[in-house]
Amino acid sequence: MTEIQNVYEKIENIVGTKYVSDSKPVCYSYSMNCDTVLQGIPDLVVRPNTAEEISEILKIANQNKIIITPRGGGADLTGGAKPIGKGGLVLDLTRMNKILDVDEKNQVVTVEVGISWSELCEQLRHVGIGYYTGSTGPASGYSATIGGGLSNNSVGGGGAAMYGAVTEQCVGLEVVLPTGEIIYTGAKANSFTDKQFTRFGLGPDYSGLFLGDVGIHGIKTKASFHLYPLPEYAAFNTYEIKKTKEKTPSERVTDVMMQWQQNRLPLHDFYYYPPVFVTLLKGGGIFAPLKDAKVRGGLLYYTTVANTQKELDYNVERIEKIAKDAEFRQLGDTLEEGNFGKWFYEEEGRWQWAYGYWGMTGTSAGTCGSCLKCPTYQLPDYIKLYDDWNKRNLNKLNEAGGGSASFIVFGVYPTYLDITGGLLFLNSDPELREKHYEIWKDLIIAQIKETGGIHYWMGEIIGRALVDSGALTEEYYNFMISIKKALDPKGILSPGKFYLGDKY
Ligand SMILES: Cc1cc2nc3c(=O)[nH]c(=O)nc-3n(C[C@H](O)[C@H](O)[C@H](O)COP(=O)(O)OP(=O)(O)OC[C@H]3O[C@@H](n4cnc5c(N)ncnc54)[C@H](O)[C@@H]3O)c2cc1C
Repeated sequence: MTEIQNVYEKIENIVGTKYVSDSKPVCYSYSMNCDTVLQGIPDLVVRPNTAEEISEILKIANQNKIIITPRGGGADLTGGAKPIGKGGLVLDLTRMNKILDVDEKNQVVTVEVGISWSELCEQLRHVGIGYYTGSTGPASGYSATIGGGLSNNSVGGGGAAMYGAVTEQCVGLEVVLPTGEIIYTGAKANSFTDKQFTRFGLGPDYSGLFLGDVGIHGIKTKASFHLYPLPEYAAFNTYEIKKTKEKTPSERVTDVMMQWQQNRLPLHDFYYYPPVFVTLLKGGGIFAPLKDAKVRGGLLYYTTVANTQKELDYNVERIEKIAKDAEFRQLGDTLEEGNFGKWFYEEEGRWQWAYGYWGMTGTSAGTCGSCLKCPTYQLPDYIKLYDDWNKRNLNKLNEAGGGSASFIVFGVYPTYLDITGGLLFLNSDPELREKHYEIWKDLIIAQIKETGGIHYWMGEIIGRALVDSGALTEEYYNFMISIKKALDPKGILSPGKFYLGDKY
C-alpha cells in the first residue's frame, strides 16, 4: 500500500467523500496551471472547507510524509499550483469562498481565501456605501483567488498605481502552519482583540512571512484587507504615441510616466502598450474600436478617481498637461473613438484584456510569463534587454517553433513599473515543452542578472531561476533554508520551490 492509499480513508473522513478524489481525470486536471511548466500529476485532490480540516490533513501529511501543494484558481503562470515532479496531494481551496466580515468602522474586510477577486469586488460594491479593496488583484481576477494573489504578491487588476500590490493592502491573516497549528497574524494575534485593523505591532511583521511565499511557509485560510469607498468620480483618457526622430514611443512614454509618479499625481492606473502589442490587441479583436481609431503607434492610458467633480477636474488638468507637453495624440472620449482607459475602468477591461490576450492563440501557442518590477527610469534598459535577448536567441527561438519576448507596462505605487510579459511561443507542441522551458529560464535569468529585475510570482520556474542565477547570497539563501526548516521540519509543504525542501 502506498502512503496515499494509507491516508485516503482518513482524509475522506475529514472532508467527506465528495471532496476527495484519486481518479485519473481529476488528478490530471490538477497537474498544470495556465502555463507550460512541465506537468506534475498529484495522487490525490482534496477540497477542504475549513482551516480545522486543513490542520488535520497537514498533521496526517506530516505523519505519512505526504507532499502538499496549495492551490487557488490555478491561474498561476510559473507552475506554482501543481506538484513539482509527481505525486502528493493538491489542496484546492476554492470551496472556502465567503466574505466573513465587512467592518465598516475600521474599513476592513475579512474573507476566506478561496474567493475570486472579481467576486469579492462584485459583492463589496453592494455593501453599505459601496466598497473595494483599492488594489483589486491580478488581471486574472475572474478566476484567481485572494489566496493565490497574496501568495504571488499579485498586482495588476486595477488600482495598482494608487494602492500598489495586493499584499500592501493586507491587514492580517489566518494561517495553518505546515505542522498543522492555526495562527492569526496582525492585530488578532492578540487573542483579546476580535478585529483585524492593523498588520503591524506585537513584534515582527509575521504576515510578511506568508505574503509572496508561493505557499512554502503555510496555508493561508483567511485574509483581511483595507477597504476604500468606491470613488464617486472617475476620468480616463487614452493616447497614441509614435516614434520621433530622436526617441522611440517607449522612451517618450518613460518621461511622462516618471513625471506622473514623481509629482505624486493621483493616478489610479496607467498602462502602456508598445506598438507590437497594439497590433496584437487589434488583430485579436480584444478591443475592437482600436482598429477604427487607426492607432498605429503605442498606446498609453490612465485612469484617475476623486470624491468631487472639482477635485477630479484639478487632477485631470495636471495629469493631462504632462501628456500634452509631450505632444501625445489624445484619442476621443468615447469607447468608439478608442478610449481604452474608459473600457479598462468602466467595463472590466482590467480583466477582459488579459483573458482576451491569453485566449487569443487558443492551444496553438504558448505564453511563458516573466513579469517583474523595475524602477520607472529603467524602462529603456528593459527595452534594450528584450531587443538584445531576442536577437541573440533567434536561432534557439526558431528551433523551438518560433516566438519572441515582449511586454507591456503598468504603473505601480509609488514610483515603479511592472514589466508584464515574457515569451510567446508560436508552437505549443508538448514535444517542444522542455526546449521552451530552457529558453524561458534563460530570459528570466537575463532579466535578473542584466537589469536586476525583481520577479514576484516565483512558483516553480522563476523561484528556481532566481537561485540558479546566483542572485541570492549564500547567507540569504541559508536564512531562507533556516526559516523553512523551522516551519516545515519534514519538508511536506510545496517542496522544490526555490529548491527548498530538496536541500534538507
Ligand atoms: C490571463 C492571466 C492574467 C494574469 N495577470 C496577472 C496580473 O496582472 N498580475 C499578477 O500578479 N499575476 C497575473 N497572472 C498570474 C496569476 O493568475 C496570479 O498571480 C494569481 O494571483 C494567481 O492566483 P490563483 O488563485 O490562480 O493562484 P494559484 O495559481 O492557484 O496559486 C498560485 C501560488 O500560490 C499558492 N497558493 C494558492 N493559494 C494559497 C493559499 N491559500 N495558501 C498558500 N499558498 C497558496 C500556490 O501553491 C501557488 O504557488 C495572470 C494569469 C493569467 C492566466
